[in-house]
Amino acid sequence: MPSPCCVPGCRSNYKKNENVSVFSFPRNENLKKSWITAIKRQDFIPTKHSRVCINHFPIKDVITSLKAFNERTGELIQAPLEHKR
Ligand SMILES: [Zn+2]
Repeated sequence: MPSPCCVPGCRSNYKKNENVSVFSFPRNENLKKSWITAIKRQDFIPTKHSRVCINHFPIKDVITSLKAFNERTGELIQAPLEHKR
């Protein structure tokens, strides 16, 4: 079963039949902080199990991209760094 998304208000993968692409938080501390800031979840500390689904990465707004590893498919994915909801 896919991991649920940790972004507040987002219900991706909360249902069993959903299969939304999710990304782990980056290991790079600066990148990780920018993800946390973008998520706007109070007192949120991501664990290695935290996931953000693909819905929070607007491809058309790409300014800088980062590579995210999709654990389910094993592929490297380019994801925009600036991701607003
Ligand atoms: Zn989500």
